[in-house]
Amino acid sequence: MSRRRIAVVGGGASGIMASLLASENCEVHLFEKEKRTGRKILVSGNGRCNISNSSITPGRYHGSNIKFVNNVFGRFSNSDTTVFFMSIGLPLVEKQDGKLFPASLQSSSVTKIFDYELGRRGVSVHLGTKIDRIIPGKNGFEIITSGKEKFKFDNVILSCGSCAYPSVGGSRSGYELAQSLGHKIIPPFPVILPLNIEEKKIRRLQGIKWDCELRVLSNGRILDSSAGELLFTAYGISGPVTLNISRTVNECIINKRDVIIEADFFPDYSIEEMGTFLDSLWIDGRKKLLFSLYGVLKEKMPEILLEMSGINPEMKTGDITPGIREKVISALKSMKLHPGKPRGFDEAVAAAGGIAVDEIDPFTMESRIVRGLFCTGELLDIDGDSGGFNLQFAWSTGAIAGSCLNNLQPN
Ligand SMILES: Cc1cc2nc3c(=O)[nH]c(=O)nc-3n(C[C@H](O)[C@H](O)[C@H](O)COP(=O)(O)OP(=O)(O)OC[C@H]3O[C@@H](n4cnc5c(N)ncnc54)[C@H](O)[C@@H]3O)c2cc1C
Repeated sequence: MSRRRIAVVGGGASGIMASLLASENCEVHLFEKEKRTGRKILVSGNGRCNISNSSITPGRYHGSNIKFVNNVFGRFSNSDTTVFFMSIGLPLVEKQDGKLFPASLQSSSVTKIFDYELGRRGVSVHLGTKIDRIIPGKNGFEIITSGKEKFKFDNVILSCGSCAYPSVGGSRSGYELAQSLGHKIIPPFPVILPLNIEEKKIRRLQGIKWDCELRVLSNGRILDSSAGELLFTAYGISGPVTLNISRTVNECIINKRDVIIEADFFPDYSIEEMGTFLDSLWIDGRKKLLFSLYGVLKEKMPEILLEMSGINPEMKTGDITPGIREKVISALKSMKLHPGKPRGFDEAVAAAGGIAVDEIDPFTMESRIVRGLFCTGELLDIDGDSGGFNLQFAWSTGAIAGSCLNNLQPN
């Protein structure tokens, strides 16, 4: 009996995980179009690699079938991930918001240890080798590289990732391969990225960081919200708080739904408390309104926020009417921002959309369309929030596919 021959297409998080777990009993060949494996892992978490999160719940994932996520994590959880990483010499540490990192706090530790493990377990890694075609046959698959080389395999694991962040390997290649094999692709759109804002005046705040809450509203209903650091940019807004709401905003825009962002620059104050706080700043009625806000906002913020709300910054605080007081409170607690056209995949940490998961068995990752084909990671129509959720999905789906093949009878 010969060992089962497996091709893993894509040497990212899920492809590496699948390769490692299949390699005990199978002959594994890992094909990666870039010159090295794990390029996204290297840049992840700002070079620290936010590997997972201690609190993985289906609510942190999005896509057309969230039940799929439950089944995946029932099979390979974040605790399994922690145990696996420990077993290869990568203990994890927990930081704020349950984020898990390698103890070294360096993503290069992860890629170095993966390289070592791939070698130790005898995985054949074909770098700079793009797979252009996968042809299912009677007894397995023929795969053809862009250099027209042909290989025969018993099984294929498609781990090509999404089209997000092309500078580190993101491409549409996985969607094209899956589609050519009969899979349905839910159109991808960029998520976890900065947002364009229509109000041009806000661009004058470029470079300023401010802790606030952003709320996403559609037809008066709050769809999403996030609190944290906002960064004003030359085109609109960025920073963690923006990345967190970007999926909801872009989904609305793509589906042509009405959407507006409300920025609350003083989330710790209720509207009443904000009013009382402002009254205390306005005791000296000779002060200009603009000047009265200099002590509580960063430079440039008072004039721009007042201007954007159509309030005369030069007026004396003694002349503030109840109507203007209300307008100032709104400028600080619920500034309306209109998101513009979504920014591109080149800035997106992840892509929503991908292979329709109804066509994948969540207990094995095997395709329900092509027997013997397995699909993993971000290529699937599931995306997670920022905070380690996307890598966890990649580890889990890769591990499920790899161990399923590892446990099959040899040919
Ligand atoms: C800047 C940035 C920071 C991030 N930070 C985090 C973080 O801290 N925590 C987190 O959870 N997630 C993070 N993510 C998201 C996370 O990196 C991805 O969700 C995860 O890497 C997806 O794993 P994957 O295996 O599905 O795809 P990838 O890791 O993208 O791997 C796919 C691989 O397939 C290769 N490939 C594609 N097509 C072919 C082909 N035809 N032939 C051969 N090879 C091919 C690609 O070159 C790529 O190397 C970040 C992403 C980015 C861009």
